[in-house]
Amino acid sequence: MNFKRLRVNGNRLQNTLEEMAKIGATSGGGVQRLTLSDEDKQARDLFVRWLKELNLEVTIDEMGSIFGKRAGKNNALPPVMSGSHIDSQPKGGRFDGILGVMGPLEVLRTLDENNIETIRPIVIVDWTNEEGSRFAPAMVASGVWAGALDRDWVYQRTDIHGRRFVDELERIGYRGKTPAKKQPVHAYYEYHIEQGPLLEREAKRIGAPKGILCLHWYDITLEGEANQVGPTPMEGRHDALCAAAEMILKVNQLPDKIGGNLVATVGEIQNHPNSRNIIPDRVHFTVDIRSWDDDHALTAWEDLKNDFEAVAAKRGCPIRIEETWRVEHSPFDETLVRRVLDTAEELNYPGLHMVSGAGHDASYMNQIAPTAMIFVPSINGRSHVEIENTRWEDCEAGANVLLHCILKSANENKEN
Ligand SMILES: [Zn+2]
Repeated sequence: MNFKRLRVNGNRLQNTLEEMAKIGATSGGGVQRLTLSDEDKQARDLFVRWLKELNLEVTIDEMGSIFGKRAGKNNALPPVMSGSHIDSQPKGGRFDGILGVMGPLEVLRTLDENNIETIRPIVIVDWTNEEGSRFAPAMVASGVWAGALDRDWVYQRTDIHGRRFVDELERIGYRGKTPAKKQPVHAYYEYHIEQGPLLEREAKRIGAPKGILCLHWYDITLEGEANQVGPTPMEGRHDALCAAAEMILKVNQLPDKIGGNLVATVGEIQNHPNSRNIIPDRVHFTVDIRSWDDDHALTAWEDLKNDFEAVAAKRGCPIRIEETWRVEHSPFDETLVRRVLDTAEELNYPGLHMVSGAGHDASYMNQIAPTAMIFVPSINGRSHVEIENTRWEDCEAGANVLLHCILKSANENKEN
């Protein structure tokens, strides 16, 4: 069999994705499959059925992650692993996550019908709760598996109704017995939609991120002085919302001001007491700064912090700053990233060396195993929304790149 000619079945992949998109389908054409919900269970059941049809060895771990293992010729060697997530955002799209689970499934179906054996075993995985929208934070199952997060801490996380993660895991029948504990992995590939506009803008079909941007989160609280808006003159006011407004624009202008590769965003704001006839006396907002360069992000933050303090002093609104979360930028394995680009070229798909602005399970896997991702274009760069879309030909192209990357890694014989 000439491996070079081997291709996945694009129609079958499309049918599989369409079948999955029925579970939790929303009226706007997206899906809502919140983690550990009834819809998540239904999608998991279908996925497990498909794994069993391929005679894979299926295991569920204590975090509810689902693994399907295809034996190799030498099962003592660490496997090649590929996967992503089945859960979605509330009113999310039909491709985020699920493409990276159905993609490797299509790869294994292709290997099976062509009777192709690999030297190493191949493992496909669905990581529980990648999104973090029902239970914060995100990517907890890959985090526990990689040894970066504590299982019992995650078990106790609650949703807005006060339901615990562990009880919901139990309720849907996916609290497995296998320890959620890392094992040697030869290579991890995560196939995902880009969720941004670069591939489309550059007219490329395959993206190979060199890694994931650093992520710095801050929480800002401003105190003002409440008063009746009518009788209180404009001068001498301590309006916390006006101070916040000035600061938010400084966040937006920061990348331009400081230069270099950087994005900065305020996504959340709470205004108190939020009444049309009271001057706001307390405002809380968040700041998110991402860059490929950790030091650059810190320098930018120092600059922003000075501006914040100047605005706070000018408006007489005391400021409290909390540094909430800091994750360093995470470069992927250069050999595997190169392999993704080379493979795209062999298959005549134009490729792009880029960065990933979003976090993925690949971030945690990257801490314990050689890791790379394969991106395909998101139409208009839209994601985490119902109209999220990717062309079927691109889904197929990405799966073909995944197929050949997996084949190359799974036929490497050296002992690691
Ligand atoms: Zn995702």
